[in-house]
Amino acid sequence: MQGRQSFQLTCPRAGEQKNECRALHQKPRCKTPVYCCNQKLEYAETYKYLGYYLHEHLSHKKTVDTLSSSAQRSFGRIVNIFKSLKNMGIKTFETLYFSYVTPISTYGSAVWGFQEQHEPQILQNRVGRFFLGVNKFTPVAATSIELDWMNPRFSRWIEMVRYRNRLVNMDPCRLPVRIYNWEKSLNHKGWVKDVQFIMQYCNLEYDVELTNECDLDMLSTKLLKMNRDKWWVEAHNKPKLRTFVKIHDTEFTQVLVKKNLSRKHRSLIAKFKCGVLPIALETGRYTDVPEAKRTCKLCSDNAVETEEHFLTACSALSHIRTRFKNELNEVENLDNMTGIEKMKRMMATDMIKISSRMLECMFEERKELMYEDAIEGDEDDDAPTLPGTQHEQQEQMN
Ligand SMILES: [Zn+2]
Repeated sequence: MQGRQSFQLTCPRAGEQKNECRALHQKPRCKTPVYCCNQKLEYAETYKYLGYYLHEHLSHKKTVDTLSSSAQRSFGRIVNIFKSLKNMGIKTFETLYFSYVTPISTYGSAVWGFQEQHEPQILQNRVGRFFLGVNKFTPVAATSIELDWMNPRFSRWIEMVRYRNRLVNMDPCRLPVRIYNWEKSLNHKGWVKDVQFIMQYCNLEYDVELTNECDLDMLSTKLLKMNRDKWWVEAHNKPKLRTFVKIHDTEFTQVLVKKNLSRKHRSLIAKFKCGVLPIALETGRYTDVPEAKRTCKLCSDNAVETEEHFLTACSALSHIRTRFKNELNEVENLDNMTGIEKMKRMMATDMIKISSRMLECMFEERKELMYEDAIEGDEDDDAPTLPGTQHEQQEQMN
């Protein structure tokens, strides 16, 4: 309610329920008193109705913040279920996430969903990191590509168009349709224009005046493709994902998460692919060591310890490679491939289980070797630190 002149409302139901009466005002704040049933209404910044906070300046921030907090609590329950079961497959996890968390974070998003809101995206990133078993330093582009989930903003856009489809089929006497028709008659930015923008953004034909339904399947397909393209471009711009963009196969989606790996193996492969496995290349970032000096401490090759060196070249770990060679060669002979080609092949769906076991052995071996070096060089001030162990301890604390 707003008013520049004093006026009175007759509201038989308001009566004594004073707490349910609020006067919302516009900027600048209106000083004219508003009465309802002879009672002066107090001014309020927000008014909660059916779980939505109607803000005095029509801001959705409080609604989004409140919904995101509730959705986070709901995600906490999924975490408890996950931990009690030790692990779960992607289908179960997605069912839980899309049934218990997103309906809360997108509540009413058919109305407020157009603008960019960071909280739902932050929550989705957190959920994705939890399932993959990676830390918070993992680039969002990599986790988004691995999980292949729709961007929350695009999901809200679909809800908006779905609601528009409902409106065109609704009884014209109903209030939402009357508001929709009123807004159509106005030639300024509003919900109707937002829906038009969404359809144009996806290069889909749309006429505000027509009453035919929009094709939601087509819209979802287009938005999902845009979502994938966006993250792929972003992945190319992240130095941490230099290896990821070379070894990730874009032809297939959810290769890592769909494979029924144990939580530990999934986490190892995800860390390895996303460039956050605590090897020298990654740990050097936290200690500001120049990239050229992030050399492998296991072998005498004096090479930078990249993912490629660690998995395919490090001579200190060659005995583990030999151990798994026959098993890998049963699927495909990797002998004549380059390091990157080998890695790409090993991350494919038919080899990823073997690769995860091999990676686990190599990483355990690396930790043991690094630990031995540290004990031996304990009296030496220039002794290498334990980057892997140190980082993991920090991670556990987080
Ligand atoms: Zn090495």
